Amino acid sequence: MTKAVILAVGDEVLTGEVVNTNGAYLSKSLDEIGIEILYQHVIADDAKVLSESFLNAFAIADIVITSGGMGPTKDDLTKETIAVSLETSMVLDPIAKQQMEELFKSRGYSMTDNNLSQCMLPLGSEALKNDNGTAPGIYWEIEGKVIIMLPGPPRELEPMFFNYTRERLLERTKKTFAEHYYMTCGFGESQMESELRSQIEETAAFRYNTYLTQSGVMVKAIAKAESWKQAHQIEAQYVDQFRRILGNSLYSERNEEIWVTAARYLMEQKITIASAESCTGGLFGAYLTKNPGISASYRGGVISYDNGIKEKILGVSHQTLSDYGAVSEQTAREMANGVRSRFATDIGVGITGIAGPGGETPEKPIGLVYICVNIKGVSAVTENHLIGNREMVQKRSMLKAFQMLCESLNSD
Ligand code: ATP
Ligand code: MG
Repeated sequence: MTKAVILAVGDEVLTGEVVNTNGAYLSKSLDEIGIEILYQHVIADDAKVLSESFLNAFAIADIVITSGGMGPTKDDLTKETIAVSLETSMVLDPIAKQQMEELFKSRGYSMTDNNLSQCMLPLGSEALKNDNGTAPGIYWEIEGKVIIMLPGPPRELEPMFFNYTRERLLERTKKTFAEHYYMTCGFGESQMESELRSQIEETAAFRYNTYLTQSGVMVKAIAKAESWKQAHQIEAQYVDQFRRILGNSLYSERNEEIWVTAARYLMEQKITIASAESCTGGLFGAYLTKNPGISASYRGGVISYDNGIKEKILGVSHQTLSDYGAVSEQTAREMANGVRSRFATDIGVGITGIAGPGGETPEKPIGLVYICVNIKGVSAVTENHLIGNREMVQKRSMLKAFQMLCESLNSD
């Protein structure tokens, strides 16, 4: 098995000022592609300590990955230190230089010598493009091993690793992988972990991990074999088990957030939709309109925060509001139905609830949210008891509305 060591460089990580999320990200990513992690170190911005630690790692691992110390400042000494440790000189990389010149030109700045120093690479190594910053990374094959040096900021490191090194590392493991994503909403990560782990066992050829997404939790399953066909066959054996355990929380098997899945269904099925939102203040509409092209389906929405607006604009009956209150199943139904008929759409979504803090009554606690999805006159309503602060209740209501939407559009 291919073996790796991860070295996180930086005083700020050592002192705990910055949490070592890069280490966690890299070990998870390597584990996923079947690379064994021997250990991780956190190292001070100190050339002597780094050199020693690096040489230890290089002696026993096939792959050494570093994070941090790639910037233009004095304390950024990762690549020089590693080059010196391997008795290699630094040279100016023309491709890195050209990329940096273009970056600076596009931003209207001029380059400094400090920046140019970022284009100096150990002889024989390659620059890795940084799509989110200036410091390039490094990919270096030497003595049959690979050294990868990545910048410290996670928003630079993560895409650089994923886009420019992952495939190459995969090739080195000389196995073929089949991946499968299970995207869920409304299933807690730790509960999911324990349910999955107790029922689905990992093997040398099959592994899976859970990741938090904005919509909930993603499970990524990976099968490994000598050929893609074999890997795919292994992966396919587990699909039913995952679907059964994840149940209704499973909204998609593509790597996408729930509002993307919902929008995809709407657009594929050429269905029009409108929304009537109270406690979410337009959040549902905001997330739906993140999707390019959604104007073909989404006609618009009403933020009917006030009862008078629920009545006048949406046609919720005065009787309903006084008998059941604004936060009720009946009101959610009439909001969905009202917006659907006024906007002349196939679907109307109604969301009404108590986001807190305050506003609760003994019968109606904070987090009580009614959501109605009316499709062509047929309503589905849920009563939800959501936990968290105001912002979380709003976000969870929005996610739940998308989940209901996905469920109804998928079952057609
Ligand atoms: P820069 O060009 O931004 O200086 P760099 O490659 O030199 O990039 P560092 O100076 O080591 O990186 O770190 C920059 C920032 O990246 C740190 O202040 C910290 O916020 C973040 N960072 C560094 N190391 C880690 C880590 N291991 N985990 C998470 N974040 C980190
Ligand atoms: Mg730095």
